[in-house]
Amino acid sequence: MPELPEVETIARGLARRFVGRRILRCRHLSPHLLEGRGRSVLRALRGRRILDIRRRGKHLIFVVDGGYVMVFHLKMTGQFLASAAEDTRDRHTHLVLSFDRGRELRFRDTRKFGRLRLARKDAQAALPKGLGPEPLEVGRNRFLELLGRRRGRLKSLLLNQGFVAGIGNIYADEILFEARLSPVRPASGLEPSEAQRLWSGMRRILSRAVTCGGSSIRDYTDADGRPGRFQFEHKVYGRAGRPCPRCGVPIRRLVIGGRSTHFCPFCQKEKSAGRRFLRARSLRIQPLAKAGV
Ligand SMILES: [Zn+2]
Repeated sequence: MPELPEVETIARGLARRFVGRRILRCRHLSPHLLEGRGRSVLRALRGRRILDIRRRGKHLIFVVDGGYVMVFHLKMTGQFLASAAEDTRDRHTHLVLSFDRGRELRFRDTRKFGRLRLARKDAQAALPKGLGPEPLEVGRNRFLELLGRRRGRLKSLLLNQGFVAGIGNIYADEILFEARLSPVRPASGLEPSEAQRLWSGMRRILSRAVTCGGSSIRDYTDADGRPGRFQFEHKVYGRAGRPCPRCGVPIRRLVIGGRSTHFCPFCQKEKSAGRRFLRARSLRIQPLAKAGV
């Protein structure tokens, strides 16, 4: 499922191509994409100009003149494709926006879980209620304050869109590895230094992933059909059984809250161990890491 870095990449690519352009025609080709009573709004988009395309959490927002907003959630396999009108359209295309000079923007979705909400005046009305702050915008103090109010395991908390919006399974695992925190640690038991590591790890991983254009695991590409590159930098996600790049211990996979979770059992210990213990372990582990295992 596209997460913050992938949706951000798509939003930036689409904004470059389509902001300022007028929608000549809007064809809705399948009944499951559009949520609620949006058909009349969809017709009203004809002849209107796109003013902005941006991201909020995992949602893509098109701001159209006249106060209209289109909010997409790509879910599992939703994709945008910038095409020419004469390009063959396959049966997974669910929405087509036509522009001048024979250009089209198509929404394609093989699994059909993607959703579109339309609203007038207010993007908030088309977004789910209670979305948490943006992980790349929330300040450290605010993050620590929000974290302090939460219980539950860190992995589940990072996936909770009401805590911070935009993180899914891949980036939750990579952030926890970066922060050297166990995915099963309860949020309430963190030391201040650990909470700080979580905040800074979250920022480092997500910024780097945005720079790389996201991760292409299955069929994710940006609107120009280009894959992301961050999958080559994954340290734990999808690497069960392979050596931890930090210490050489095999990466483990667990199912937490129904989600597959990857972590290093040594770098991300469940309980913070005493210094002496850690030093003894690192001495024992070091030769492995040096050997590049
Ligand atoms: Zn490790």
